[in-house]
Amino acid sequence: MADLGTDVRYIKGIGEQKAKALAKLGIRTLQDLIAYFPRAYDDRRAVVKIKDLQDGENACTEAMVAAAPTLSRIRKGLELVKLRAVDESGTLDITFFNQAYRKNSLIPGETYIFYGKAEGNLLRKTMTNPVVEKEGQRQLTGRIVPIYPLTAGISQLTLIRAMEQGLAECRDLLADPLPDKVRTAHGLCHAGYAYEKIHFPGDEKELSDARRRLVFEELFLLAIGLKKLRRRRDGLQCQPFGDTDLTAFYQALPFSLTGAQRRAIGDIMKDFASGRPMNRLVQGDVGSGKTMVAAAAIVCAVRNGRQAALMAPTEILAEQHYQGLAPLLEKLGITCVLLTGSLTVRQRREALGQLAQGEAQVAIGTHALISEDVAYQDLGLVVTDEQHRFGVGQRSALAAKGRHPHLLVMSATPIPRTLALIIYGDLDVSVIDELPPGRQKIDTFAVTSAYHRRVWEFLRREVSSGRQAYVICSMVEENDTIPDERKAVTEYAKMLQEQVFPELKVGYVHGRMKAKEKEAVMAAFAAGTVQILVSTTVVEVGVDVPNATVMVVEDADRFGLSQLHQLRGRVGRGKEKSYCILISDNRNEETRQRLKVMTKTADGFQIAEEDLRLRGPGDFFGHRQHGLPALKVADLTCDVALLQEAREAAETLMEEDPALKQYPLTALRVAQMFEAKGDTLN
Ligand code: ADP
Ligand code: MG
Repeated sequence: MADLGTDVRYIKGIGEQKAKALAKLGIRTLQDLIAYFPRAYDDRRAVVKIKDLQDGENACTEAMVAAAPTLSRIRKGLELVKLRAVDESGTLDITFFNQAYRKNSLIPGETYIFYGKAEGNLLRKTMTNPVVEKEGQRQLTGRIVPIYPLTAGISQLTLIRAMEQGLAECRDLLADPLPDKVRTAHGLCHAGYAYEKIHFPGDEKELSDARRRLVFEELFLLAIGLKKLRRRRDGLQCQPFGDTDLTAFYQALPFSLTGAQRRAIGDIMKDFASGRPMNRLVQGDVGSGKTMVAAAAIVCAVRNGRQAALMAPTEILAEQHYQGLAPLLEKLGITCVLLTGSLTVRQRREALGQLAQGEAQVAIGTHALISEDVAYQDLGLVVTDEQHRFGVGQRSALAAKGRHPHLLVMSATPIPRTLALIIYGDLDVSVIDELPPGRQKIDTFAVTSAYHRRVWEFLRREVSSGRQAYVICSMVEENDTIPDERKAVTEYAKMLQEQVFPELKVGYVHGRMKAKEKEAVMAAFAAGTVQILVSTTVVEVGVDVPNATVMVVEDADRFGLSQLHQLRGRVGRGKEKSYCILISDNRNEETRQRLKVMTKTADGFQIAEEDLRLRGPGDFFGHRQHGLPALKVADLTCDVALLQEAREAAETLMEEDPALKQYPLTALRVAQMFEAKGDTLN
């Protein structure tokens, strides 16, 4: 007898060849197969008479092939099979392109169901390349048909058949990871029913029942996992930090902190004193001054005799934090080292030595900080900047380098409140809702490329009055290949340098450059010797050059609003008036509207909500930036109500049985979900 781990190649009708193709879709076992959900459905239930086929509409019709189909070769690579089908109401002329086999597979006198877009009028109806099925078969027609994402060597029909077979095989095997009482309390159907109907719903109600149940399950497991992470931490103890005098730190700053910054620091101090490891998110719009909050925490940790690590998502950002913080901390007698992937062997060895011996109290770097050979003498605080770029697991990996160090996470991604609850469900949150004083509104314009000349003139004027500018270059996909970042940026920079700004210094950075080169360019830009910096979105997060006052974004329509907001946040960081110019030739009404939002508001939260509204939730988190396990059916931004329900159910269950002793299958599924993400819960 089969079990859910059975290799798909043993399923009837699959075999070696198809198993290989399925593996490309990540389907290896029976379990993988049934959890491969349709991306859409096609309602092919209605079967109509030929005379009732509507011009331009998709429908099924049941008709008899009236005469032998004819095959004609128009030219090389173009073969037509034509046939006439009839029912008692009329005739339908059908054409197949390049499906020569249809000539012999469709037999005169037999009846088939044809599904496709009908064309023509009362007198003459036609269909091109319809889906064909023998009458009575009802796999591809006459029902709601699932549409799966495909790969070469696997057709919809193959998957549908495999799915039917697979579901039949495991009908009796499907244990339910949702405890019965949770299921009934929330009015959810059984796992078996849900799996069957998510693939082959008989009607909309069945589909929505199935979907609701599977979404709930996924969110429920997610909530339990996060709760476990949190529990595990709450049970931990650590030496509370003593009262720390930060006066010297405050005096070393060139400005006084905002109220919001002070409040966040206050929250952190309370956590430090609690005797439990801190796990706090500091959320604040771009430019709100999160770095100094981190610095205060770092000083406090060091004053308590511990080490601190600050992890940034890119080398540029790590480098910049180092440039900014090292001198400040040095003044307070604190030694920092920079740790990135591009140190020489010697530099690296030296930095590691200093950390291991405790000669350096602070490490600033990229995820090089969590590589295996990095050992700290006594790591007491871990700060991750722009956390959405890191997985929950990477955070824990860094934490594992200390004895339950305090965790501080900084993020500029404005996330609607409801979502923050689950996404950061394992964190406490401080919000910095105030910008440092004196910030001016960044004037934002959305223009077409017809304005290029004026834009360049404007840049020239700004530069001649001592300012600097960013130009974000989009990456054009040539011939469907992966966009070549290096080529796009270097060619664009060359053009600007030679043809537009021969008298200025144009520099460029992109993600494929060696860190050393990047550093050199960023340093030159920060020092003002490079006046115009051409870049990809590598400057999107965190980069801070207060003298830069213009941000030009080419092909701005290719970016999400939140991303544009981040980019815009690179300017307006100093005293001077700043500008953001979004260039796009896209005429799509919705796109123009989106860009217009940018010209109207500077509020990151509002922009995020607008983004959500206009682009739909699918894109919101682009590239799974939230760092949570991948969800297959649930959509964190769509299923908010269900999310809340699932979260509450998870809490109730965890209260009653914290170790999930009575629910081993639930526990197993949670573990699997987080494992796939590289996180372990135990
Ligand atoms: P973000 O929250 O985006 O990380 P940063 O920490 O990079 O913001 O701060 C943005 C800029 O504001 C930096 O140039 C920083 O020195 C400056 N800054 C931070 N706090 C204050 C403050 N309280 N008053 C004036 N300027 C500040
Ligand atoms: Mg920052």
